[in-house]
Order: sequence, then C-alpha cells, then structure tokens
Amino acid sequence: MTSKSAKDQIIKLVELQKFDTEIYQYNKELKEGPERLQEIKIQFEAKKQILKEFDERTKSKQLERKEKEVDLQAKEDEIVKSNNHLSQLKTNKEYKAKLTEIENIKADKSIIEEKILILFDEVDKIKDQFEKEKVLLAEEEKNYIAEKKQIEDFMKELEEKVKLLENKRKQTAVDIDANALSRYERILKGKDGLAIVKVENGSCTGCYMNVPAQQVNQIKKHENLIYCEMCARILYIEEDL
Ligand SMILES: [Zn+2]
Repeated sequence: MTSKSAKDQIIKLVELQKFDTEIYQYNKELKEGPERLQEIKIQFEAKKQILKEFDERTKSKQLERKEKEVDLQAKEDEIVKSNNHLSQLKTNKEYKAKLTEIENIKADKSIIEEKILILFDEVDKIKDQFEKEKVLLAEEEKNYIAEKKQIEDFMKELEEKVKLLENKRKQTAVDIDANALSRYERILKGKDGLAIVKVENGSCTGCYMNVPAQQVNQIKKHENLIYCEMCARILYIEEDL
C-alpha cells in the first residue's frame, strides 16, 4: 500500500464510518419499535380487561339476584300453602303454632326482598361504572391506535433512511481495498458499530486509552492501517487527512 493510497483508504473509511454510525443508530431504534408496540398493546389490553371485569361483575350480581327471586317465590308459595293449611287445623294450639310459622316465613321473605333491592342497586352502580369505563376505553383506544400508527410510521421512516444510507455506503465501499474493508466490517460488528476512531490528545476516542507516541508517528506516516492496541479499532488523526 503506498502512502497516498493508505491515506485515501482512511478518508474513505472515515466516510463509511459516518454512514455506519447512522445506520447503527437507526437499526438500534428499529429494534426498539416492536418492543414498544408490544408494550402499548399490553397496556391497552389491560384496560380492556377492566371493562370485561365490570361486565362479569354485573352478570354475577344479576345471577345472584335471580337466585334470590327464586328463593322469594318459594317463600311466597310456602305462605300460601301454610295459609291453606290453617283452616284444616283443629286445635287452638296448632293454629297458633301455624300462625307463628307463617310469621317466620314472612320475616325470611322480607330479608330476601331487602337483599334483592340491594342487588338491584349494586347492579345499577356497576352498570354506571361500566358505562364510564366504556367511554374512557374508547378514548384509550383512539390514543392506542394513534400511538401505534406513530411508531409504525416512524419505523417505516427509519427503514427508508437505512436503505438510503446503505446505498451510499455501498458506493463509498467500492473504493476501499477488500482486505481493509473486511477488517473494518469485522471490527464494526464486534465493536458496536464503531470501527475507525480519531486519536485526540494522545488517546484513542474509542476506548479512551493512551496511544503510544510511536504509534502516533506510524499513523502519521500513512503507510498502513494502524490499530488501537487496546480496542483494536482503526486509528486516524483528523488533522492529517
Ligand atoms: Zn482504543
């Protein structure tokens, strides 16, 4: 590699790195997209669940009320039967006992009636809450759909940007020596998207470790690609380009 071509390679690699830095950033954001979508979906599903629970509570209270109504009917039947029985009784004692029995059934009946009224009240209250939650949920659904679209649009936008950048990087990459390029790309993958870095104030800006003076001199000669001894990234000095 001649001095001139090594310098040219560095210039091209720095250019490539600019595209790759952007591509890495966008790809990172793209990865977060599906996670965010899943997150907001779970949040919305949880809100839908609240509404479902109100509906289930209403149904269970209504069922309880129906059972009480059956009990009430049974008590009423019992009273009619006992009243009919009264006329057939011979002794005063038996008559009085039956009357007491009827009073007891009536007392039981009024407890059931009260319970039914309470259940009517409870069902009304839950239904009110249900209606309020329904309005809230409709609003939440609008927000959810809007946010979902926003994320999806953003992802599409990022995908377009990545595509564009990849085309540009391809055009730049053709001018780079195949060996240098493949080494650069290996480092890029292994070092989280950063393969070529400046030496600044005597330090590698990739790992912030000191770059020995001898290496700095080698970089300045532009004879070969010089790698950081600590992080293995390609080093360059901006003022020399
Ligand atoms: Zn380094």
